[in-house]
Amino acid sequence: MAVNVGDVFKPGENCGASGIYTVIHDVEHSKVHEVTCVYGKPFPPCNHCGKHVRFKAKYLAIHIESHEYFK
Ligand SMILES: [Zn+2]
Repeated sequence: MAVNVGDVFKPGENCGASGIYTVIHDVEHSKVHEVTCVYGKPFPPCNHCGKHVRFKAKYLAIHIESHEYFK
């Protein structure tokens, strides 16, 4: 399944492409922020808003350990 910039994922879904994701929380406890997510690992629930958090693909880049020039 190809991931495109702008695709949105929920906690428990597997990360289909490494890169920078915008994190959107459901309640007012946190502003939108960014994280790095790695291919194959599930998106985690938030410690505060649980499964309401969403991860939106912002800038995709292959993890260096998976890149053909470095693995
Ligand atoms: Zn949260």
